[in-house]
Amino acid sequence: MPNSKNNNLIPRSPVVVVMGHVDHGKTKLLDYIRKTSVAEKEAGGITQHIGAYEITYKNRGITFLDTPGHEAFSKLRGRGAKAADVAILVVAADDGVKTQTVEAIEHIKKAELPFIVAINKTDKPEANPEKVKKELAENDVLVESWSGKVPSVEISAKQGKNINELLDLVLLLADLNELKTNPKKPGEGLVIETNLDPRRGIVASLLILDGIIQTGDYISSGGVTGKIKIIEDFLGNSITQAHASSPVIVIGFTEPPQVGEKFSTDKIPFTAALKVAKKIGEFIEKSFDDEPGQIIEPEEKTKNTFNIIIKSDFQSSAEAIKEGFEKMIFENSNIKILKAETGNVNAGNLELADLSDAIIIAFNVKVDTTLSLYGKLKEKVISGNIIYEVLDKAKKLIETSLKPRPEREETGQLQILAVFRKEKNRQVVGGKVTSGEIVKNARIEIVRDDAVIGQGRIISIESEKKEVGKVEAGRETGIAVDFGEPKIAVGDTVVLFRSLKQN
Ligand code: GDP
Repeated sequence: MPNSKNNNLIPRSPVVVVMGHVDHGKTKLLDYIRKTSVAEKEAGGITQHIGAYEITYKNRGITFLDTPGHEAFSKLRGRGAKAADVAILVVAADDGVKTQTVEAIEHIKKAELPFIVAINKTDKPEANPEKVKKELAENDVLVESWSGKVPSVEISAKQGKNINELLDLVLLLADLNELKTNPKKPGEGLVIETNLDPRRGIVASLLILDGIIQTGDYISSGGVTGKIKIIEDFLGNSITQAHASSPVIVIGFTEPPQVGEKFSTDKIPFTAALKVAKKIGEFIEKSFDDEPGQIIEPEEKTKNTFNIIIKSDFQSSAEAIKEGFEKMIFENSNIKILKAETGNVNAGNLELADLSDAIIIAFNVKVDTTLSLYGKLKEKVISGNIIYEVLDKAKKLIETSLKPRPEREETGQLQILAVFRKEKNRQVVGGKVTSGEIVKNARIEIVRDDAVIGQGRIISIESEKKEVGKVEAGRETGIAVDFGEPKIAVGDTVVLFRSLKQN
C-alpha cells in the first residue's frame, strides 16, 4: 500500500480482507461484524453493499472488504492483495485446512500481509481446533500456541464468540505496522464495484488507499475519466470528502471504470490520454516491483470497444435502444454508439459499419440488401421491431465475440488406480484410459475433486510390459510423468491436451 514519506502523515484505519476455503464462514463472519457494528445502526437499518464497509470499534475505524470471491478480489489478489493491510484467514474447525486455505496462505505470504487465523465454527460438537493448528503447521503457518508468530483465535461467526478478540488482534497488527496516509495528497485507490443506476448514471465504489478525494476533483481510472459530482460514504450518506481506508461511492465517471483497477484524482482535468496511460504504466511497474515474476494479464489493460449504429423509425425508439445499450456492462469492453438516428439503413451506414467494425441495429426500418457491402456485413445487422429483442440479440453477438477462442483441446483422460513410484519431479502411476488416448510427450493436467492441482508431461508409457507411444480408451496402462508437488494420488484424473495455437 502507498505510504507517502513526509511530515504530513497521519494514522489511518486498517483495511481487512477475509480469506479462506468455501463454506468456512467468511460471509457469516463479515455479516456478523457488519450487523453488530455501531455505524450500521446509525443508518437506520439501510444496508447497501458496495464491496466494503467500515466499522467503529473501540473508537477506531476498521474497513472490511466484504465480497470474498468477487472478481475484484481475484484481480487484486493477482496483484498481491495490496488493497488490504491485514488478512483474516478463516478455517472451519470441523473441516480443517483445504485447497483454498492453502491458496489463501500462498497469497498472504506472497503479499507479505500480516494475518490472523480465525478458527471458526467452534460451536460445533465436531470442532477440532487443535487439528486445524496441526494442519496449519504442516503448511508452514505456526500459530502462537504452537510456538509460532501467527496470532489465532477460536471463534464462532454464528454465535459471535470471540469476535471482539479477533477485532482486537486486527487493531494490534495494524498498530505494529504503523499505517499512515498523507491527507493533503490527491486521492488514489482501487475500484471495487461499478454499476449503472438508471437515475444516477455510473456509480463506482472506490476504496481510497491514500490521500483525500473531494467533490469537484477530477478522477481517472484505467483510461476512463470524470469529475466527481457526488461522494457518499458506504451507508449512502452524502459527504464532500473522504480519506484513506474509506470505502465510498463516487458519481461522475463518464464511462464505467473497471473493477480491480487503480484510480487517482487530481485538481486539474486528466486531459491527455498519455497522462492516464502513464499512470497505468507506473502502477503496473510498481506491481511488478512489489512482486517479482508476477504476470499481469494484458487483458486487464485493454478494452475492446463495440461500435453500434442505430437506425430506427422514430427518434424516441432510437434513444430507447441507445439507453438499453448504455446499461449493458461487459467485462473488459465497452459500447460506443456511433449513431442513433431515424431512417433506413443506407450505403453510408454500411460503409461506416465496415470501417469501424460496428454492429447495425435496424429497428422497424428497411435495409437495402442489394448493396454489395450488405453481403459482407449481414451477420452484424440486427433487424427487429421489439426493443428488448434487438438488444438481446446484440448482447449475444457481443458476448460471442468476447468469448476467448479455445487455445487447446482435450484429447484424453486417465483415471489413476495406482501410484507405483514417487521421485522428486517424476512419478510412475497406473490407471485406466477413460476417454480419448494417452500419448507420449503430451501435456497433462492433474485434476482432483474438479480442481486442477498441477501440470506436467508424460515421459513414457508402458502397456503390457512394453514401452509404447500411445494407449487408447478402455485399456489400462502405466505412465511416467514429469510432475512436481503436489503428488498424484489414487482417484485423480490425468487430462491430456493438444495445443490449438498456431506457432
Ligand atoms: P463462506 O463460503 O466462507 O462465505 O461461508 P459462509 O459464511 O457462507 O458459511 C457456510 C455455512 O457455514 C453457512 O451455512 C453458515 O451458516 C455456516 N457457518 C458459518 N459460520 C459458522 C459458525 O461459526 N458455526 C456454525 N455452526 N456454522 C457456521
